[in-house]
Amino acid sequence: MALKTGREYQQSIENLALEAHIMGRAETHLTDHGLVRPSLAAVAVTYDGAHAEDDATRSLFRVRSPLCGHDVNRFTHLHRSTEDLVKKVTMQRYCGHTTGCCFQRCVGMDAANAVYSTTFDCDADCGTDYHRRFKAYWTGIQEDDLVVDGAMTDPKGDRGKRPREQRDPDLFLRVVERKPDGVVVCGAKLHQTGMLNAHEVLVMPTMGMREGEGDWAICFAVPTNTPGIRYIYGRQTSDTRKLETPSLDAGNPLYGGQEVMTVFDHVFVPRERIFLDGELPYSGRLVERFAAYHRQSYGGCKAGVGDVLIGATALIARMNGVAKASHIKDKLVEMIHLNETLFACGIACSAMGHATPAGNYEIDMLLANVCKLNVTRFPYELARLATDIAGGLLGTMPSAYDLADPVIGPYIKKYLAAAEGTDPVDRVKVLRLIENLVAGSGSVAYLIESMHGAGPPMAQRIMIGRQGGLEEKIACVKGLLDIR
Ligand code: SF4
Repeated sequence: MALKTGREYQQSIENLALEAHIMGRAETHLTDHGLVRPSLAAVAVTYDGAHAEDDATRSLFRVRSPLCGHDVNRFTHLHRSTEDLVKKVTMQRYCGHTTGCCFQRCVGMDAANAVYSTTFDCDADCGTDYHRRFKAYWTGIQEDDLVVDGAMTDPKGDRGKRPREQRDPDLFLRVVERKPDGVVVCGAKLHQTGMLNAHEVLVMPTMGMREGEGDWAICFAVPTNTPGIRYIYGRQTSDTRKLETPSLDAGNPLYGGQEVMTVFDHVFVPRERIFLDGELPYSGRLVERFAAYHRQSYGGCKAGVGDVLIGATALIARMNGVAKASHIKDKLVEMIHLNETLFACGIACSAMGHATPAGNYEIDMLLANVCKLNVTRFPYELARLATDIAGGLLGTMPSAYDLADPVIGPYIKKYLAAAEGTDPVDRVKVLRLIENLVAGSGSVAYLIESMHGAGPPMAQRIMIGRQGGLEEKIACVKGLLDIR
């Protein structure tokens, strides 16, 4: 077994021959598609990291797996220590600041760690056989160094109703038929980051299921090219700029993220690939664990993208000739403070992690929720400060076509001149990158996803309320004041 390079990974995705509906057309050669290619390149960074020339970077990505007995890519690892958890977040920051976007591969890693410990608990309590199945399945994932999309979010229909009360029961993905060798499922998973760049999809329930909702308490994995699965591409702000030549207006010249709506239309799941089927209490436990791992992840990836935004903002201040102004310096310090606070929370919930009965490591749940709640706010403030420092040109720049025009181009260059030694075209490049992150296609991952990915702010507030230890704090005060 060898760890794949980015190039080998891209070839392996091409071999899957996936089809997706993109802007009204059924597209087949996805790896060559202008909208898809940047996101595939971003995932490839997670592979190339394992082959980095410097030892420090390589050691972030390579780790010995007790499951298969070899070195594996950390994106397929089941964490065995708090050091593993810290390295995970550090690796995600590296990927974030290398790509300046969502690199997509974390969802499967987070899902695997949650499924691993939850199947162990379920088997211990219910005598099921899920943990052995999952270990066998995940050993294959590690051996083949695959990308797995973790799929949790159902459409949910009327939010005031339970799954079986919905007008259409498929609004929550469910088992519609049981066969001797497996089950057939119908439903959909929304907001699937990285699904089109994955070899496998690991489906989980979207919430804790209750009595009578056994058909919705289903967890399983299938290859992404399984018959019956359909992909419908999500639009992003300014997405078609990725198709333009010259490419300057895209902002991020190499990388980008993407999301798809994924429909499961009578998809057959073999028994060996089912990891939960109707054991109700474990559906909620699985959701909680996956969410907490992914809330930890944001402390790494969003800090990495924040590095890019801060770097671009500092550079544009220099190009604009205002880098020495005290209020600019102070705003940049504020941006760094906010960004490092996100990272600090990611590291803190990792360092305070603990072993699960299954043997893999779990983050501190309270601190992971604090981490994600900060992520729902701080990138917005970072974007506001970047917009402030960049100036109004951020929203009014002429297009790359005009810049390349032999008659109009020289006017643009003449009037976009700024600080001594600054090339106006370089200035436009930096502004377009900032625009990409605060208002363009990159803002989908940096802002909207920061709000809603791994659950919206209220989900974290509920968990913080549950885990914040209010009673213990009250007991401390009573002890201090000798109140009985
Ligand atoms: Fe990874 Fe961040 Fe993208 Fe989630 S949002 S998949 S943590 S890069």
